[in-house]
Amino acid sequence: MRAEAGPLAARAGGILHIDLDAIAANYRRLAREAGAAACGAAIKADAYGLGMDRVAPVLAREGADPFFVATIDEGLALRHVLTEAGFPHAGIQVLNGLPPDTGETLLAHGLTPVLNSLADIDAWRARARERDEKLPAALHVDTGMSRLGLPDDETARLIREPERLKGIGLTAVMSHLACADEPDHAENSAQLARFRTAAQRLPAGPRSLANSSGVFLGRAYHFDLVRPGAALYGINPTPGRPSPVRPVVRLRGRVLQVRQIDRYRGVGYGSTYRASRPTRVATVGVGYGDGYPIAVSNRGVAVAAGRRVPVAGRVSMDSLTLDITDIPHDSLAPGDFVDLLDDTHDVDALAAEAGTIGYEILTGLGARLHRSYHGGDG
Ligand SMILES: *Cc1c(COP(=O)(O)O)cnc(C)c1O
Repeated sequence: MRAEAGPLAARAGGILHIDLDAIAANYRRLAREAGAAACGAAIKADAYGLGMDRVAPVLAREGADPFFVATIDEGLALRHVLTEAGFPHAGIQVLNGLPPDTGETLLAHGLTPVLNSLADIDAWRARARERDEKLPAALHVDTGMSRLGLPDDETARLIREPERLKGIGLTAVMSHLACADEPDHAENSAQLARFRTAAQRLPAGPRSLANSSGVFLGRAYHFDLVRPGAALYGINPTPGRPSPVRPVVRLRGRVLQVRQIDRYRGVGYGSTYRASRPTRVATVGVGYGDGYPIAVSNRGVAVAAGRRVPVAGRVSMDSLTLDITDIPHDSLAPGDFVDLLDDTHDVDALAAEAGTIGYEILTGLGARLHRSYHGGDG
């Protein structure tokens, strides 16, 4: 792919193409799988690194509601984006709880806290009393993840003392699955049973358990609301099986130089790659400073001129090197682009080469990459 339009592309070391139509299609796929349950969208960490300002309006137009962010700052940014896009009243739930002295900010911007402890509940109830109005909140009960949410003893206490929720309008009663991407894991049904029991005994509110992978565990896991994130952005929610969702990103890196080296010559820091034959090396302007993982040094692959070529040597901050000896000599020149992520070598594949997960790859893609959005218009 030699031609790339526009001066931006001419300056970029790497271009991240983001297919907003694929995100919309993935939302529809998840909403269909969720059947009668409502389908929200996790959009924390800047829409998993893909740009909340562009992604959120697309999801809102597809009917996503509520949105889930991790922090209040993310919620404030999202409220601005959704208001500008014509969705000023979309629900925004803040997963990481209720820090002290943040209540007025939450209320002023229509952000709903997810209450993770009895202390959170008591603080929110006190604020409701103070303002003499009913305040919305979601309630998170821990059923086995041991990360966020009311621990068992606090859940039991809340069941005995439901008046603690007086003045609070529950927008969700939620829990989070630890092992949903392993459908045969015994923890899934254990968490399901604990969630059912707790939700039955707690004051009523829309019940929500499933993340992306949870949506594919079957109807029992759907309840009233599902909360997918990763699958919207093209990460396979059913690892080991064909992906039900479409890839969303394509990462292209610019070839800076091509050189021929002799046998025995080293490539990159530490000379960890040694040419075993006369070798052609292409240097590409994307490195770990762009979120391309150093862990794929001497392990990763790129797609150049339609062929897979190996990463040779250690990934640098601003560049990486490829062994392109096996592709035709005239097929790659400085200024050309190679694919570091594409439909045939997607974010899950790169993550596997790096010994990590697609989530970390996506959220790590750096600000230096030029972002090019496709589709998604009204
Ligand atoms: C991140 C998150 C989700 C979305 O999870 P995915 O695996 O990305 O679908 C849902 N619920 C909670 C509580 C989360 O933290």
